[in-house]
Amino acid sequence: MARYGMVIDTVRCVGCMDCVVACKTENQVPEGFGRDWIAYETRGAFPTVSMEIRSERCNHCDDAPCVSCCPTGASHVDPFGQIVMVTHDVCIGCKACVASCPYDARFVHPEGYVDKCTFCIHRVKEGKDPACVSVCPTHCMHFGDFDDPNSRVSRLLASRRNHPLKAEAGTRPRIYYLV
Ligand code: SF4
Ligand code: SF4
Ligand code: SF4
Repeated sequence: MARYGMVIDTVRCVGCMDCVVACKTENQVPEGFGRDWIAYETRGAFPTVSMEIRSERCNHCDDAPCVSCCPTGASHVDPFGQIVMVTHDVCIGCKACVASCPYDARFVHPEGYVDKCTFCIHRVKEGKDPACVSVCPTHCMHFGDFDDPNSRVSRLLASRRNHPLKAEAGTRPRIYYLV
């Protein structure tokens, strides 16, 4: 069974937002909401300042509090690639999952259910990359199976310095950023 995740190269990301636009188009994300977004983080002090530009989204955490706190089972781990999903018609909109997510990755859709990144499971099942990954003009995003030591994501993690986001939250996020 695969365990899908992403590796994103912050050195190549230019913050063009193509990933954000692609996600909105592919997944009909309503105006004013986003399943992915760009974050900017400045480090150091003049004259050795550096800026990390990151494309962020749900981390499809291995220990996902949004799944364990959901009272209805709407938030769940799909056996296909262990992707964290929300079954819209089972969600009662209680927002427990929204509060539990350390990454602020979820939002309440105007139709009343909670929504977030699905790793474009519908595309991945057809053998395609997620929409955001497929449009990136600098090819800084990589999607694949962390349980396969020969996958591109596993090889990139083994060969480049990297960090997840908010590891201290203890959710074991499955997106890593190359630095
Ligand atoms: Fe859940 Fe947030 Fe982790 Fe996504 S990033 S699996 S919404 S806790
Ligand atoms: Fe579950 Fe929906 Fe409540 Fe989130 S808002 S915890 S998905 S029922
Ligand atoms: Fe949006 Fe799909 Fe990328 Fe998730 S994987 S941010 S749903 S385009």
